[in-house]
Amino acid sequence: CGVFGVIGVTDAANFVALGLHALQHRGQEAGGIVAHDPAHGFNSAHRFGYVRDNFTKASLMETLPGPLAIGHVRYSTAGKKAAAIRDVQPFFGEFSMGGAAIAHNGNLTNAESLRHELIDHGAIFQSSSDSECIIHLMARSYQKTHADRIADALRRCEGAFSVVAMTRSKLIGVRDPLGVRPLVLGRIGDNGYVLSSETCALDIIGAHFVREIEPGEMVVIQDGKVDSSRPFHNATPRFCIFEHVYFSRPDSIIGGRSVYETRRQIGVELAREAPVEADLVCPVPDSGTPAAIGFSQESGIPFALGITRNQYMGRTFIEPTEQIRNMGVRLKLNVNRSLVKGKRVILVDDSVVRGTTSRKIKEMILEAGAAEVHFRIASPPTAWPCFYGVDTPDRSKLLAAKMSEDEMREWIGVDSLKFISLDGLYRAAGEVNGRNDACPQYCDACFSGEYPVAPADQLARGFEM
Ligand code: 5GP
Ligand code: SF4
Ligand code: MG
Repeated sequence: CGVFGVIGVTDAANFVALGLHALQHRGQEAGGIVAHDPAHGFNSAHRFGYVRDNFTKASLMETLPGPLAIGHVRYSTAGKKAAAIRDVQPFFGEFSMGGAAIAHNGNLTNAESLRHELIDHGAIFQSSSDSECIIHLMARSYQKTHADRIADALRRCEGAFSVVAMTRSKLIGVRDPLGVRPLVLGRIGDNGYVLSSETCALDIIGAHFVREIEPGEMVVIQDGKVDSSRPFHNATPRFCIFEHVYFSRPDSIIGGRSVYETRRQIGVELAREAPVEADLVCPVPDSGTPAAIGFSQESGIPFALGITRNQYMGRTFIEPTEQIRNMGVRLKLNVNRSLVKGKRVILVDDSVVRGTTSRKIKEMILEAGAAEVHFRIASPPTAWPCFYGVDTPDRSKLLAAKMSEDEMREWIGVDSLKFISLDGLYRAAGEVNGRNDACPQYCDACFSGEYPVAPADQLARGFEM
């Protein structure tokens, strides 16, 4: 998901709409905005579909006046596919000290047990979302300010949360102690501040990047001032390394590092680790493109756009059902026949999850007359599900959980298949000495199976780590 908030500008909701549009890659199912104006109070709009199809209409935006607004773009994680509009964030609650709205990116790993506990104590849930627990926990807190209640609530939450919240007068941002999901602070105009999942959404509204919200930090912004506190226990940060590989936009800066440059460097590492003689390096667009550029630069094998992507389709994996996902590949990608005919082609993609994409692409490219097909993958084999906010299927559907690398090569049906090593990935992400196995610098659970936060709900259901 993507979260965005603005305070201290005229018609903040318009800025939020633009910000959410720039974060659309983080969630395409639905979006929502809550705005506050002293004269009109809180107003909100929640819609299915793209930001540009909803939050561009003057008739809608006029209903969201005020200098303070937050928003959310949603992509539902495992098990919560049939979203109802009441699942769309931000969520709003009335408290003794006034209303507040919250938008959450990440996944709470103890949401099910929290929900049961809260329902037992009288909470009436409106949605199926893990994030709604935060509002109910706030309602049960005895703290006197919204910010303290948010801190109280989040201290009970485990897992990943980057939260953007608002009251009548404050914009609040919080990151979980490990800082699994991103959240940045920006400035706009003379007195305005912005919170955003990624820096690319600051650029679109002409805001300036100030800094990242730190893991475990809470900021409360009011009247042009930023108050910082640390409501959680200290922990060693474990940012999601898959944000670098796939999830974030390549024009965003994370941890002072360009996502594009990390992806290009992954291609460089891959070319060193798994060289192969070939005529062309082709990305599986768009997510494989920067790594393919790096692979081509390092190997000297020409880069070519052997596959064209229809720009009007969403990301395959954000489509909710397996059936649509299966069709999706052909609807979205097409092979440039005249280019690949008779050629030995290296295809670079970001990840192999179920293997559907790779298998379909291999079929298409052989049909087009390629002489050889070599897959190079910009992440290690995805052998474990993510419980922190990226939608991976359960282990039984993960190709790498069922098969060795050679069995995967055979199943996909290509001449060679190589994944970047975990160390190579860390080097590409700027860790010159690779992964520190004693104390890993990132979360890489979907590759290593080492979960930095025990997935309590999953363990209770019998998941074996
Ligand atoms: P597959 O077809 O192997 O399931 O998915 C791999 C391809 O689709 C990659 O190109 C990746 O961009 C995207 N993808 C599909 N499904 C998922 C998913 O559940 N999680 C992630 N991380 N990427 C996926
Ligand atoms: Fe990111 Fe993978 Fe960790 Fe999930 S499990 S937070 S996708 S690195
Ligand atoms: Mg892809």
